[in-house]
Amino acid sequence: CGIVGYVGARESVDVLMGGLRRLEYRGYDSAGVAVIDDGGRLETAKRAGKLQVLADELERHPLAPGTTGIGHTRWATHGGPTDRNAHPHLGDDGKLALIHNGIIENFAELKAELEAEGFAFESETDTEVAAVLLGREVRETGDLREAFRRTVNRLEGAFTLLAVHRDEPGLVVGARRNSPLVIGLGEGENFLGSDVAAFVEYTKRALAIGQDQIVAITADGVEVSDFAGDPVEVQPFEVEWDA
Ligand code: GLU
Repeated sequence: CGIVGYVGARESVDVLMGGLRRLEYRGYDSAGVAVIDDGGRLETAKRAGKLQVLADELERHPLAPGTTGIGHTRWATHGGPTDRNAHPHLGDDGKLALIHNGIIENFAELKAELEAEGFAFESETDTEVAAVLLGREVRETGDLREAFRRTVNRLEGAFTLLAVHRDEPGLVVGARRNSPLVIGLGEGENFLGSDVAAFVEYTKRALAIGQDQIVAITADGVEVSDFAGDPVEVQPFEVEWDA
């Protein structure tokens, strides 16, 4: 239900947890984060329940430091509100993590296709299908951006998706269809959020992502394209916020 992404120089888990707290007003039943740590590993933590349950878990078992990450609060639609069904979901043998707001309408058909190829699933969510599909495309293309573009073109329904892959640290890819996504522009850092509340603490300069668009953010760059991969021009706006 809430989505945050970060690339920069800060400890990403702090930015993600802070962003998720600011999105709490939307309601949710589970929460999770994925971080690419400074050693190039992908680490995740996810828990059913309030954000505080996840915060306590992170206190007991801190993730290694890392400056690229994604965070999610879930409002379950497919699969009950359990730890296992919480996002992020993994693909490419645990090398990539993906989070999702919305509903992937054709997930059953995609899941059958992937199961027939021998892929296994750990959750009952529609979301995991996108994670596993992205993993298959990364194996085929060796390129997260292209794999992500291929993946979103296979999905029907409503989605805001963010993904990270440990082989491409310093990159977060995202896409949206019938569900919101906004970029927050920083100096040497960039943010993604399901709404500006996710990053308004750090920057008031933002870019609204249009319907059926893909984004790729690094610490010092932002690219927006359509689902065909053609670049799109987007105009920054100034967030008005009194808080
Ligand atoms: N359909 C997904 C799920 O049930 C995402 C729900 C959401 O928007 O949080 O896991």
